[in-house]
Amino acid sequence: MSVTAIVGANWGDEGKGKITDYLSQHSDYVVRFQGGNNAGHTIINEYGKFALHLLPSGVFYKHTTSILGPGVALNMEVFLDELENLEKNNVPSPSIFISDRAQVVLPYHILFDELEEKRLSNKSFGSTKKGIAPFYSDKYLKIGIQVNEIFDETRLEERVKSALSRKNVLLQHLYKHAQLTVEEITNYCNTYKNQIKPFLKDTTLLLHNALKENKEILIEGQLGALRDPDHGIYPFPTSSSPLAGFGTVGAGVPPYEMKKIIAVTKAYSSCVGAGPFVTELSGTEAHELRERGGDAGEYGATTGRPRRVGWFDGVATKHGLTAQGANEVALTNLDVLGYLDKIKICTHYEIDNEQFNTFPVTHLLENAQAVYQEIEGWKEDISHITEYTGLPDKAKNYIQTIEDMIEVPIKWISVGPKREQMIIR
Ligand code: GDP
Repeated sequence: MSVTAIVGANWGDEGKGKITDYLSQHSDYVVRFQGGNNAGHTIINEYGKFALHLLPSGVFYKHTTSILGPGVALNMEVFLDELENLEKNNVPSPSIFISDRAQVVLPYHILFDELEEKRLSNKSFGSTKKGIAPFYSDKYLKIGIQVNEIFDETRLEERVKSALSRKNVLLQHLYKHAQLTVEEITNYCNTYKNQIKPFLKDTTLLLHNALKENKEILIEGQLGALRDPDHGIYPFPTSSSPLAGFGTVGAGVPPYEMKKIIAVTKAYSSCVGAGPFVTELSGTEAHELRERGGDAGEYGATTGRPRRVGWFDGVATKHGLTAQGANEVALTNLDVLGYLDKIKICTHYEIDNEQFNTFPVTHLLENAQAVYQEIEGWKEDISHITEYTGLPDKAKNYIQTIEDMIEVPIKWISVGPKREQMIIR
């Protein structure tokens, strides 16, 4: 049939996991195409509450095959641990494959991530320290290691030796850290290779064949458009592209098959990590929204760090939707705003007395002030409502005001963290 992308319109944590889990009910394949275990998708379903870091959000369904595409940063240890955790929680063993071209996250990626953040000290980028930036740097330096290479001892040794020849210089002279041995790294790979082997496949071919058989494929992005290295808030992006366009590359599906791009955005803003965030709240207003947000407060699913929170940002979101090429929007966490008398929406920015309704480059963004429109709050619990017509008029007005601003239809409205708390508009 076709490929649908579920991607983030903002800084990540928009609720993509919940939307993917919901839409997986009607999908044959769910594919992760970029990033690694540096972010988490929270999913609450009949088996319990899960924070998936590396596994695709379709793993809870028996009819769905999950895939980690070649663009993913594969931490073998985390992959196996997450699978084990599913088993412990009585989730039926999922059908899952990893692209044999995916590259592996190695202990030195994590070490370099930690050492670099420490070296940068108060200028650090807020890395989750899962090794993702060093991993992608190595990939493009051509010293990364594809998972298929760990089964050939001689080749693995050569590849590791070549990588370490430069890494050990940095360890010794830049970071004043003990050097690594080839053996440490090859031993690490050998620990996991037998367990990983059954999952490896040419997943690109698998997906091409699936499309010939009219199968439905969901590709699931991590983080959001504003963290894209090209279109986001550089130098505070993530290290791989979370855009739907890259999804076709990182998953290995033909671009012309991607018919639907659903961008997920929250009814307010939240952001983990550093970088400009124009509508950010502080003090008691921020505290209250953070505590009420998400399923148990706005705290990072991977790091537990408190998320920065703010009002809905129409300028940033519109930019994110443009970068994603979104043709549908899923608006999540609408229920969270039910406590407010008045809700603000950022309509444009003011920078040095000039008005901007488009998203400027980062150095201008750093001086931007948000200009708001104020909307009446609906002041009631909407988390049980499953039909659009059942929503209070003031909530509908909030949705419509956002839709008019972003100019992409809001088709999905999520009113709670559980699978069934969903309105299709
Ligand atoms: P993802 O990385 O985009 O999948 O997002 P996260 O899982 O990191 O963060 C989204 C948070 O919002 C999680 O705590 C979800 O359980 C929660 N969530 C998702 N949709 C809703 C919703 O409609 N209402 C509420 N209250 N929480 C939601």
